[in-house]
Amino acid sequence: MSGCGCSKETPCEDKKSQQEKEGLIPEPERTEGNYRLYDVGYVERIKFILNCRTLNMSLNEIRQLLTYKDKPEKNCSDVNELIDLHVSAIRENIIKQQKLIEQLSDLRGTCDGLCTIDQCGVLKNLA
Ligand SMILES: [Zn+2]
Repeated sequence: MSGCGCSKETPCEDKKSQQEKEGLIPEPERTEGNYRLYDVGYVERIKFILNCRTLNMSLNEIRQLLTYKDKPEKNCSDVNELIDLHVSAIRENIIKQQKLIEQLSDLRGTCDGLCTIDQCGVLKNLA
């Protein structure tokens, strides 16, 4: 037993995995000795979540995909719709980032780097 004083029924927050804390997966069953029992489904689910995270999906999106995954007989159009929305959000974000680059290079263009700080176009434009 660890010395953290947590009961077997309610393990402390520190012992939970990130996915458990985020409510994406149920906590695994525990043995008599308080070890976690990871079944195949549990490991697969973690793998699924990590793959989604790699693709920058939000916790809500992952949670949604997991609920779809739990209804294997349903039509998969909702899954595709979720991915389409995710892609749209990424596209919008790219456009925002590109605008930022333009703004910053315009700002950079206001100074040739040969002046003194008190004459610096960049700093003047930020004031
Ligand atoms: Zn300058």
